[in-house]
Amino acid sequence: MSDAPLYFDHNATSPLAAGVFEAMRPYLQEAYHNPSSASETARPVRVAIEEARRSTATLLGAERADQVRFTSGGTESIHAAFFSACHGGPKGNRDRIGIGGAEHSATQGAAQRWSEAGYRVSTLPVDDRGCLALADLQSFLDEGDVAFVSILAANNETGAQQDLTGFAEAITNAGARWHVDAVQMPGKAPIPKGAWGAHWLSVSGHKFGAPKGVGALYSADPSHQPRWLAGGGQEHQQRGGTENVAGIVGLGVAAQRAHERAQDGPRCAAWADLRDRLEARLCQAIPGAYVHASGGPRVPNTTFVCLPGLPAEFLLPMIEQGGLLASAGSACDATHWKPSPVLLAMGVDPEHASASLRLSLGPETTQEQVDRAVEILVQAHAWLRPGEAS
Ligand code: PLP
Repeated sequence: MSDAPLYFDHNATSPLAAGVFEAMRPYLQEAYHNPSSASETARPVRVAIEEARRSTATLLGAERADQVRFTSGGTESIHAAFFSACHGGPKGNRDRIGIGGAEHSATQGAAQRWSEAGYRVSTLPVDDRGCLALADLQSFLDEGDVAFVSILAANNETGAQQDLTGFAEAITNAGARWHVDAVQMPGKAPIPKGAWGAHWLSVSGHKFGAPKGVGALYSADPSHQPRWLAGGGQEHQQRGGTENVAGIVGLGVAAQRAHERAQDGPRCAAWADLRDRLEARLCQAIPGAYVHASGGPRVPNTTFVCLPGLPAEFLLPMIEQGGLLASAGSACDATHWKPSPVLLAMGVDPEHASASLRLSLGPETTQEQVDRAVEILVQAHAWLRPGEAS
C-alpha cells in the first residue's frame, strides 16, 4: 500500500479503527438475525447492541447507557435533537432558535426546516476563531422567547474548540434547551461527564473509526425524548427501523478506542506537535502562509492553512496528483468551489478563504508522512507560483 496517497482528510471521514471490521464481521454473516426477533438465536445480537451502547455512553460523557440512541450519523442525530426540542411547533411565545455562526450545514439545514415550521432562527455572532462568546449568547437569550440553541464543540474546518463553560447555566436559566454538535470531538479531545450540561449531543461514527451510516445521539432526559422516526419499537420506541447491527457494533469498538485516545494526554500532545510541525514547515516555505483560528484551543489533528495566491480549486487536484489528499473545508461542499462560509463568518477575506486548505491528520499519521505532505505542497506551490518559494 506504499503507493496509496497520503490521507490528510480525516475530518471528512476516517478509515476503520483497529479491530472494528473484525468485530463487525460476524453480524454481517452468521449472526445476521433481526434483534427484534423473539427467538433465542437473536439474543446475542441484542446483547451486542447493548454492549455497544455502553461503550458509546462512556465516550459521550453519559451517566447511563440508556441515554444513548443509535442513529444513521451526525446529520440524523442533529435533526433528532432539533425535532426533540421543536416538534409540535413553538410552545407559548418560545419561538426562537439560535445557532452558531460557523455551524455545519447539517445544523443550518435543520434550523431552516424549523424556520419553515414557524420558528424564528438567529445566527449568533462568532469571533475570528469562529467561536461564540458567552456574553453574545447571553444577549441573545436576554431578548427572550428562546426555545433552543445548537452549537458546535469543535469546528470541522478549523478545529477550533468552543469554550462551552457557562452555556448550560445561561441557557437553562433562560428556560431554553440546547444541543452540542460534537461530531469532530471523539478521539481528539474528551467529552466531559454530563456533556457540558447539554440536553442533547451528537456524534458520527465514520469520523472516529467506525463505518459510515451509524452515529449516536446523547439525550440527558431520554424518557422525554419524542419518537423522531415512527415505525417499529426500536431504540426505546423513539427511532423505528431495524438496527444497523454491524454498524452499531463497529461504533461501540471505535468508541472505546476513541475514548482511550482522547483521555491519553501525552498522545494528544504528540499529535498536536505533528500538526504544529506541518504548520511551521509550510509557513516557513510558502511566503505569506498563515493558519486560521490558531489563537486558541484546537483539536490536535486539524489545521486550516491559508496559502495566499494558491486557490484551493487549482491546488487540490495538483497535490492529489502528487499523492496527497486534503480538502478545502467541509467535505459536504467539496463539489462547489466557493470560499468556506466558516472562514467568511470569521471575517477572512474571500480571496484568502478561497486559498485555504484543510489538512486533518489521523491517529496513525507519522512524522515522515507530515514531512512528505509538506514537500508535495511546496512543490505544487513552486509549480503554480514560480519564483516565489523562500
Ligand atoms: N457536524 C459536523 C461538525 C461534521 O463535521 C459533520 C460531517 O462532516 C456532520 C455534522 C454531519 O455528519 P454526517 O456526515 O455523519 O451526517
